[in-house]
Amino acid sequence: MLLAESQASLLIAYKPLLWDYLAAGSYYLIPMALALLLRQWLGAARPVLISWLVWIHLGLAVSALALALVGAVDLSSTFPVFDVLLLVSLVVMAGAVLPRFRVLFGEQQVLVVACGGLAVLLIVDMAVAHGFLPWGRVPVSWGALGFSLAVVSISVWHYGKTQKELQQLNVRLEQKVRERTARAESLAEREVARARLLALESKKSQKLADVIAALQDCAGIEEAFEPLLRAMPELYLPMTGCFYRRGIDGQYDRVVHWGGTPEDVFPASLGANLSVLTETVLPVRSYDLPAQMCFFLRIESARSGNRPEGVLMLERPDLPPVVKDYGIARVISWVYQSVEKIGITLSGLALRAELQRFSYEDSLTGLKNRRYFDELFRHEREVSARSDRPLCLLIFDIDHFKLFNDCHGHEAGDQALRMVGDVLATCFRGSDTVCRYGGEEFSVLMPGASLDEARQRAEQLRAAISAEPVEHRGENLGSLTISAGIACWRENCPEFDELFRAADQALYQAKETGRNRVVAASL
Ligand code: GH3
Ligand code: MG
Ligand code: MG
Repeated sequence: MLLAESQASLLIAYKPLLWDYLAAGSYYLIPMALALLLRQWLGAARPVLISWLVWIHLGLAVSALALALVGAVDLSSTFPVFDVLLLVSLVVMAGAVLPRFRVLFGEQQVLVVACGGLAVLLIVDMAVAHGFLPWGRVPVSWGALGFSLAVVSISVWHYGKTQKELQQLNVRLEQKVRERTARAESLAEREVARARLLALESKKSQKLADVIAALQDCAGIEEAFEPLLRAMPELYLPMTGCFYRRGIDGQYDRVVHWGGTPEDVFPASLGANLSVLTETVLPVRSYDLPAQMCFFLRIESARSGNRPEGVLMLERPDLPPVVKDYGIARVISWVYQSVEKIGITLSGLALRAELQRFSYEDSLTGLKNRRYFDELFRHEREVSARSDRPLCLLIFDIDHFKLFNDCHGHEAGDQALRMVGDVLATCFRGSDTVCRYGGEEFSVLMPGASLDEARQRAEQLRAAISAEPVEHRGENLGSLTISAGIACWRENCPEFDELFRAADQALYQAKETGRNRVVAASL
């Protein structure tokens, strides 16, 4: 518009009519540009009229120029229509913008001011054109230029601001990427540590399975403790630790230690009282875990009930920080379960051994019972037959025991049987088998002993029993006598199958001939 109105335009192209049309066109489009700008700023709050203004001015500009070009109207005759419309448009726009002026952004306020300046120039120009003001050249195009410059400078300022925001956004994005990468790296590190921990756990579980299998092959707890103590370091390393075992005196003494120098950390003995120890139990929380962990190895047996046969002490594992919470809870849980499993296996062994003992032992005297004796007899007769070694059998019976029971009571009778059992245990060799054959009848199998040796021992036994008073509830109930019969394979009994009958007959003879004596079977 500025170019079209200036004289310089003719230097570019000497087409005065064209420049007039261009000037009129751009002039007509000014209110449309203003209305578009307002529509953009006001958003949903814009009056509907603003949108109409855009279309009305576009329509006017296009139709005025078109009609003038085809010669239907004179271009200058369209000016009054435009002026009226412009005036109305400016009033509508002012009504829409001015009440919101305070809430507009700074750059918007600048634009409104530039716009206002242009509008004032337009109105003055109109007033001059219609003779309301004396004639003079009104610099409308300079106003339009000023308005355009304001738009451009605000756009440039906006561009700068956007660039700056983009830069800041970039920095923030990079920061976020850095943070995410660090998080991903830490996760990866954690995963590696976790995988290492799982591998260790699987190795230890395999070792534990081997240990349990080895324990199950053992005959009893005593035998089982040997491989168990040997395996403990390998089971619980890299944790430093030690194991205390309950001795016959009830004291828990350190029997094995591993990793580092436990003398400073774990005492040589825990004494007999475990209540001072705090047992580590599940579920465990790593943050309240003590530096030392303590696990009781409990073994269940019919004789002693459920009692700690040992104490496993471990130093709190030093795991990498990434797996600390997860790892420690897992390690503790594994150790806890391993001790439980070992305890269950050893309890099984203890119960099995006890069951075996009960099936072969007489519970009153602690001697072997008849079942055991019969089995052993079969075995010994085989061995004796093969090695041609003598085999002696002694059977003896307490004299007048019914009378003793009747006089002193059944309990005192039991006490007397226990006493006989104790004496028996001192009179024979380890290779001899002493058994309570039933009631107040006992038998002794003496492999390798001659008839004379057997008779000698029987006499010793008879003397020892008659010299030992039966004491019951602090009362001396006097002593007992026994009658015994002896049979010796080969010497006075040629057949194994006859051994029992021969010894029994000799016993019967001893009873018949006055009791309290030893009689050897006669051929
Ligand atoms: P003998 O000299 O002829 O052997 O006479 P005895 O009284 O010893 O023999 P008898 O067979 O008449 O009596 C055996 C007694 O042993 C009867 C029974 O009450 C007693 N007895 C058997 N087993 C037990 C036991 O486990 N405890 C007690 N207290 N007594 C028992
Ligand atoms: Mg009898
Ligand atoms: Mg008797």
